[in-house]
Amino acid sequence: MTTSRVAVVTGAARGIGAAIAHRLAGQGVAVAAVDLDTAGCARTANTILEVGGRAIAVGADVADENAAARAVEQTAAELGPVTVLVNNAGIIRDNLLFKMTSGDWDAVMNVHLRGAFLMTRAAQAHMIEAKWGRIVNLSSTSALGNRGQANYAAAKAGLQGFTKTLALELGKFGVTANAIAPGFIDTEMTQATADRLGVDFEDWKAAASREIPVGRVGTPDDVAAVAGFLCSEDAGYVSGQVIYVAGGPKA
Ligand code: NDP
Repeated sequence: MTTSRVAVVTGAARGIGAAIAHRLAGQGVAVAAVDLDTAGCARTANTILEVGGRAIAVGADVADENAAARAVEQTAAELGPVTVLVNNAGIIRDNLLFKMTSGDWDAVMNVHLRGAFLMTRAAQAHMIEAKWGRIVNLSSTSALGNRGQANYAAAKAGLQGFTKTLALELGKFGVTANAIAPGFIDTEMTQATADRLGVDFEDWKAAASREIPVGRVGTPDDVAAVAGFLCSEDAGYVSGQVIYVAGGPKA
């Protein structure tokens, strides 16, 4: 990949987003690490700078219309036109439906769906101008339904429809859009779920591994490898797809 490509990766302070930011930087892409956690995204950017890459840290809430637009503008001003966007920022507010508050519902919709919409709307102008772009949205196996996650499952399924629509609308401008749907990935998000369920994280991972065809839970790098391909020059004929990165087949 040429060094002229510039990526925005949201939720890049840690976990899957940080791994994707490092992966893209390793492919020669300049990366804006965007996150609510300003210190965390500075850590990601600094690690890229230390190994000779180009990166900036941008503290922003992707669900805030002005902040999302500013994050893309700042990236374009400091690194160049944004032609790669990875919508990875995410939160969980799990509960069984009868206990789920409207606040839990709105918070999840706002970060995943509204955030991806706002960031994509801001970035697509650069991609259309460049006649080249790559958009990757983080869905989840929970899009297929998951007990205790009515809000998250709906948002992650919604992102699949969003992705396919982007592929239809933007294809003629050289822009591809794909979704990655990870299964169980070892991050702070899954650690938080274990804490909420009151189970030991290591025991939970061992139990999950027995149900996963490849016999282990996933790592952020497993997801980043697929994102790296989907954002590459080579992936120009792959668009509107949902790729399950779950150690086995999913519907
Ligand atoms: P983490 O919780 O480890 O990281 C998510 C990051 O997103 C955090 O740094 C968080 O910042 C940031 N973030 C949250 N809300 C916002 C916001 N409004 N604006 C900007 N940044 C925000 O999650 P993972 O790395 O595990 O997950 C990454 C993505 O992958 C998510 O979309 C998740 O839903 C998805 N996914 C994860 C799976 C897993 O097993 N881990 C499985 C399937 C999908 P802060 O800490 O400040 O809140």
